[in-house]
Amino acid sequence: MLCTRHIQISREGVIDRHLWKSCRVIQPGSKTLRKIAVVGRGTAGSLAAASIARLHPDSDYELHHIYDSRIPVIGVGEGSWPSLVQQLQQLTSLPHDTVQQHLRGTRKYGVAFEGWGRRNRNFTHYFTPRKVSYAYHLSADLMADLLHENTRARHIDAKVRDITRIEGGAQVEFEGLAPEHYDLVFDARGFPRKLHPDQHIDISFIPTNTAVIRRCPAIIKEEQDGPVLQHTYTRAVARPHGWIFVIPLTVHTSYGYIFNRDVSSLAEVESDFDVFLDTDGVSEFEQRAVIPFPNFVHRQIYDGAVARIGNAAAFMEPLEATAIVSAQIQIGMVLHMRLNRSIEYLERDVPMVNQFLVNNILCYGLFVGWHYSCGSKYDSGFWRHARDRVWPRYREATDPEVVGCAALRKFDEMFELMSQSSIDKADWTRMCAVPLTSYVQVSEGLGC
Ligand SMILES: Cc1cc2nc3c(=O)[nH]c(=O)nc-3n(C[C@H](O)[C@H](O)[C@H](O)COP(=O)(O)OP(=O)(O)OC[C@H]3O[C@@H](n4cnc5c(N)ncnc54)[C@H](O)[C@@H]3O)c2cc1C
Repeated sequence: MLCTRHIQISREGVIDRHLWKSCRVIQPGSKTLRKIAVVGRGTAGSLAAASIARLHPDSDYELHHIYDSRIPVIGVGEGSWPSLVQQLQQLTSLPHDTVQQHLRGTRKYGVAFEGWGRRNRNFTHYFTPRKVSYAYHLSADLMADLLHENTRARHIDAKVRDITRIEGGAQVEFEGLAPEHYDLVFDARGFPRKLHPDQHIDISFIPTNTAVIRRCPAIIKEEQDGPVLQHTYTRAVARPHGWIFVIPLTVHTSYGYIFNRDVSSLAEVESDFDVFLDTDGVSEFEQRAVIPFPNFVHRQIYDGAVARIGNAAAFMEPLEATAIVSAQIQIGMVLHMRLNRSIEYLERDVPMVNQFLVNNILCYGLFVGWHYSCGSKYDSGFWRHARDRVWPRYREATDPEVVGCAALRKFDEMFELMSQSSIDKADWTRMCAVPLTSYVQVSEGLGC
């Protein structure tokens, strides 16, 4: 929980409702947010635009939602964390059940790991409280549509050439249009084209860099007069070249093979994917995409005028579905600081907010990378590479001197707590991006 004088943001980026109500009467920052831009119409940009429309207390500010319709969204974020259930209800003012049906969604109660770790047994990482708290498996396209229906903004279909911080705000330069000045810009343009060591922290302790996506017929059937209540889990199945996710929606089931293209060839992966689908009883599929991805955290997620969000801010493989929840935190944190804090505190707030956001992503990265530390039931080239060569780099990559935050210390603290014979009640709610309960479940499951 991060606290300032006026706000509290929970671990998943959702502001405390009662506090929020009391904050609405004293939102000194809103006076300096008269013109805001969101660049990008993927999951991150759509969430940002809807959040601004919902949270800005005034009606006479301008919101420009800018995107280039020739540049497609990535569209594969289909697993989430429980905070999204609450947030979508707040952003749309629709009941949870209606939201779930709009998303052609199912209720995700956790991640079911198959073949991971040194115990050769399957285990589940549940959201807490176990079997009560749920997130959505959702169609990313339908979520963006739902958010747009609930967002009043001026839409600008144009290519953005550059976004730069200037005196008193940020300037957006367009292809074929005059530049515009904004008080705040959310940059949600997706992956950076290239990583630069002075701008990006390379989280090279994550051993994967490519995904093959296939779409298969739905295994969960839509209910006629209500949402699907059945408990579902994202399956994360260890395979010789990496792992496969299985995400059940009511429109289709998504399968993705996550691997390292420098260790395994695409042909090897496709062939093992075929074997897996065959044993899973799936006879038809649509080949969707092969997606190479970077593993990085931007050093300057927020500079006071430009907030990078979603895949423009950071990325790591989707093992624990950390991208949408990270975007929620980035948007929530920046908006609440800008709305609730007087502009005179801006320069002082910026380094603190940026450090909080970088730290949060690095904690997620450490949690995700650690899943590979005990290998899997496969003694293959990929798993030896992941366990023996890639994961051991985590301390060097997150050295506080290099990254400027304490993610590594927080991560170590989780292990210190788990090694105690009994954990003090005051420590039960401690977290390093995810709660201690998540570390305990994964530790027991992996056998390390
Ligand atoms: C294989 C895989 C599986 C994943 N699974 C999950 C998951 O289960 N859960 C999860 O939380 N996340 C998952 N993710 C992460 C997922 O990508 C993000 O959650 C989400 O899609 C965020 O994307 P985005 O909005 O940042 O960017 P994008 O979807 O890439 O959108 C970028 C937007 O910016 C616009 N744009 C780009 N350049 C310009 C420009 N120059 N000018 C104007 N507009 C521009 C584009 O038109 C587009 O609208 C997964 C990712 C991968 C690769």
